[in-house]
Amino acid sequence: MIEQINHIAIAVRSLEEHIPFYRDVLKLEYRGTEVVEDQKVRLAVFRVGEVNIELLEPTAADSPVAAFIEKRGEGMHHISYQVDDIEEQIAELKGKQIRMIDETPRSGAHGSRIAFLHSRSSAKVLTELTQLK
Ligand code: ZN
Repeated sequence: MIEQINHIAIAVRSLEEHIPFYRDVLKLEYRGTEVVEDQKVRLAVFRVGEVNIELLEPTAADSPVAAFIEKRGEGMHHISYQVDDIEEQIAELKGKQIRMIDETPRSGAHGSRIAFLHSRSSAKVLTELTQLK
């Protein structure tokens, strides 16, 4: 079951360039940065109510986020929905013929588990499921 939006992720070339807008202009609560090795990204996390805004900076040329920026430029990268049981949610989506990028969950930020859906099903908005630790 989808419980809420967990985070909205924005792809950027440089965290240092974009953190000041979210932290100092919008004055969102800044929670710091974190590296997610599995996805080859460095995140800057901001909190708005129950939702995080995450800036994603690629840490390697072969990072999926680097490929995204190369193709489409900086901008909105994905919406992540928080679920109570990620395996059950994946099974339910597959049962409805939805294509998954990740058929089994992998590691996300803060010890969470995540899985991406293919964007063909979601009006080209990359969609992620997140189950918190
Ligand atoms: Zn995410």
